[in-house]
Amino acid sequence: MSQILIIYTGGTIGMMTDPVTKVLKPINFEQIMDNVPELEKLNCKIKVHSFEEIIDSSNMNPQIWSELAGLIEANYDDVDGFVILHGSDTMAYTASALSFMLENLAKPVIFTGSQLPISAIRTDAKENLMTAIEIANAKKNDRARVPEVCIYFDYKLFRGNRSFKYNSSKFEAFRSPNCPILAESGVHLRFSVNDIRQPADAPLISHKNLVNDVGVLKLYPGIGPKVVESILGADVRGIVMETFGAGNTTTDSWFIDMLKNAIDSGKVIVDISQCKVGTVELGRYETSKILKDIGVANGYDMTFEAAVTKMMYLLGQVDDVKEVKRLMEVDLRGELTVS
Ligand code: ASP
Repeated sequence: MSQILIIYTGGTIGMMTDPVTKVLKPINFEQIMDNVPELEKLNCKIKVHSFEEIIDSSNMNPQIWSELAGLIEANYDDVDGFVILHGSDTMAYTASALSFMLENLAKPVIFTGSQLPISAIRTDAKENLMTAIEIANAKKNDRARVPEVCIYFDYKLFRGNRSFKYNSSKFEAFRSPNCPILAESGVHLRFSVNDIRQPADAPLISHKNLVNDVGVLKLYPGIGPKVVESILGADVRGIVMETFGAGNTTTDSWFIDMLKNAIDSGKVIVDISQCKVGTVELGRYETSKILKDIGVANGYDMTFEAAVTKMMYLLGQVDDVKEVKRLMEVDLRGELTVS
């Protein structure tokens, strides 16, 4: 019988309203199990690892990502797949980070959670949990059908490093507009076979070192030198710059000079768009050609979540700034499309 490891980190799925304060607070995994007797009927064995401190995912951090990568590595040979119960608020960040940290992944790592607690009558948690387990356990010719880090939510399976939380009140919490849905659940569970990545025939490498010295520069019309300098001049090694449209910025000379100085001082700056659909095209407009010339990296169609965590991952693996810049532009785990 196959075996799935459920890792419980927290999130609404396992929360209950505190009778006194009336706020949602995490509960332990046994209380979750009590709400899902269906777990007993599955055709696989379930093993559970519950984090000591159950958290709202707003308190997620790179140290816990490393712990998660370590747990997956330690159990990798013993189980057929992993389901990670996680709050939806930062799920796309954790899924993106794990996709980079787990090189040569050949088993499913499926994140899920819910918008309503599992004990609520209209909860979305049960379907999300049961189908996430089914996907983690799905095989064809003895091989995992989805050997990727994914998010399963509201009947859809998304590539983790392509998704973002899109809606805080509908059950349809996630979207991945720059990447096809990898599976859809209805009467049948349908996999988009051609869109699912196949693993390299090599052993898993779990990279646990992340460097979180990453700044974020989000542009808006009217942004001034004081604000830009406070971000570019901060003691960080990488900057994710969220630009307009197809990767455009102001061409004011003070702004370009500041970017150039930051790059010359050894910082990596990657350009991603504030648009949720489409890609950065450095050099298409006059307002982005100069960025290419001074050495800004092209982030193509990466999500913000993927760009930040990829930068943390690369800064933790590679010392040479030019190599970090080069790899930011390379498709490592299906996170971007080079156009
Ligand atoms: N605040 C919760 C969390 O991210 C929301 C959720 O689980 O959906 O932990």
